[in-house]
Amino acid sequence: MIAKNFKDYPLSDELLKAIEKLNFKNPTKVQEAVIPLALNNKDILCKAQTGSGKTAAFGIPICELLNWDENKPQALVLTPTRELALQIHDDIFNIGRFKRVKVSALYGKSPIKRQEKELKQKTHVVVGTPGRVMDHIVRGTFNTDEIKYLIIDEADEMLNMGFIDQVEEIIDEMPENRVTMLFSATLEPEIQRLSKRYMKDPQVIEIEAEIKSTDAIDQELYESTDGDKMELLRDVLLVENPDSCIIFCNTQERVNAISNSLGQDNNACEKIHGGMEQDDRTRVMHRFKKGEFRYLIATDVAARGIDVHEISHIINYDVPWEKETYVHRIGRTGRQGKKGTAITLVSAKEEHLIKEIEEYTEKEITRKETPTHSILDTLKPAFNEKLQAKPEEKKDKAFDLTKEIMKLHINAGKKTKMRAVDIVGTLCNLEGMTADDIGVIVILDVSTFVEILNNKGEQVLKELQTRNIKGRLRKVSIAEDKPVVQRDHRFRRSY
Ligand code: AMP
Repeated sequence: MIAKNFKDYPLSDELLKAIEKLNFKNPTKVQEAVIPLALNNKDILCKAQTGSGKTAAFGIPICELLNWDENKPQALVLTPTRELALQIHDDIFNIGRFKRVKVSALYGKSPIKRQEKELKQKTHVVVGTPGRVMDHIVRGTFNTDEIKYLIIDEADEMLNMGFIDQVEEIIDEMPENRVTMLFSATLEPEIQRLSKRYMKDPQVIEIEAEIKSTDAIDQELYESTDGDKMELLRDVLLVENPDSCIIFCNTQERVNAISNSLGQDNNACEKIHGGMEQDDRTRVMHRFKKGEFRYLIATDVAARGIDVHEISHIINYDVPWEKETYVHRIGRTGRQGKKGTAITLVSAKEEHLIKEIEEYTEKEITRKETPTHSILDTLKPAFNEKLQAKPEEKKDKAFDLTKEIMKLHINAGKKTKMRAVDIVGTLCNLEGMTADDIGVIVILDVSTFVEILNNKGEQVLKELQTRNIKGRLRKVSIAEDKPVVQRDHRFRRSY
């Protein structure tokens, strides 16, 4: 079945509403191919890049098919990086928002106890990095008996990062009777081996990398010597004056060096790499997504899958060692129908890498002349002006979905025997409220979080100031959403 509209799929109203509020107008190519098969419980081996909409391609069918009443996890999504785990967690949570789908993210360097507590509650979907997922399986805190859907995302990156043994150990823990979907940017022999070994008659889908067919990204390069690159970077930034850009480097040391150098005269930049504490990484990524600063200096930890809206420029300070990485990096721009620019600074010893990239992408990269002093002088005032200005805040991609949802915090939890049924009971007794207006409920030791849907949050908040919940007046306020904070040390490849 080929559908051009999500309404053509057998999806529930709750899901269609979320899809509409997320502004997904039509299914992307990968969604057209994957959704009908996944809804029919087929195993799928899919070659697709990030940015193709593949998270929703598996997220929509999983949310549709899972049984809300089952308390044990029914779907597991394995992903190579913590940033990606968090992003996929948020994407699936948003898709399943009106079905009240509960999603847990499990990744290292985040307190394991907190994750354990979360897993004790109803959890429909688990998204995690292999190490921490295995930890929970071994500890017996992640019950895999009811897993019906296993998704291995970015499988080629799992291979690159040395995670594949752990992934196989995890697969061995899954029930035989399950659907397996494997997504990978390449279908190299090792990926084929995995699919043969662990999948049942998989349907093979190949979606060509858009980068090969798109003109959305202007690709340019400047020739340079190693010693001159920092100066050239400054000049390029001055000429391009980007609103939002990622400067990619091959090593953590280089990220630190550029950050130190650029940071002296430019407070518009922040850095991210695998050597940083995870809470700093998460905070930086969160602020960059919100548009709070303009230049992110990064290793490839930010290349795979990271979905930030409206990045106008990608600058490769170092030419990446692998041609595929180039495609992942520049694919962070030119998204959602916007034009993007990708600029690479190339020293003589990196020339051969550029040739490989050009052959791989079947596109010639435009050679640019180093900007002259007079051009730089003319452009400097505009550059300085933007540097002083407060950057424009970026609208969250789920803005239209979240704007009608209010998350409330209730100052009572498990320790006072609060249960979801107590919350639902109270809320449904309020004037004009029905169960359909109640979203996800999370009960912690001394706190409860409940989402109020359909723009009814203000009214509920007001009424709960004078209304008893489970026999007593509770302190009820708007919950603040902060980025989740975690730490990890088990990274194999250090970006
Ligand atoms: P992904 O490849 O899963 O990282 O998705 C890339 C981006 O496309 C994300 O920002 C998604 O929210 C967005 N997206 C996914 N599906 C659609 C769709 N059908 N229409 C528009 N945007 C989409």
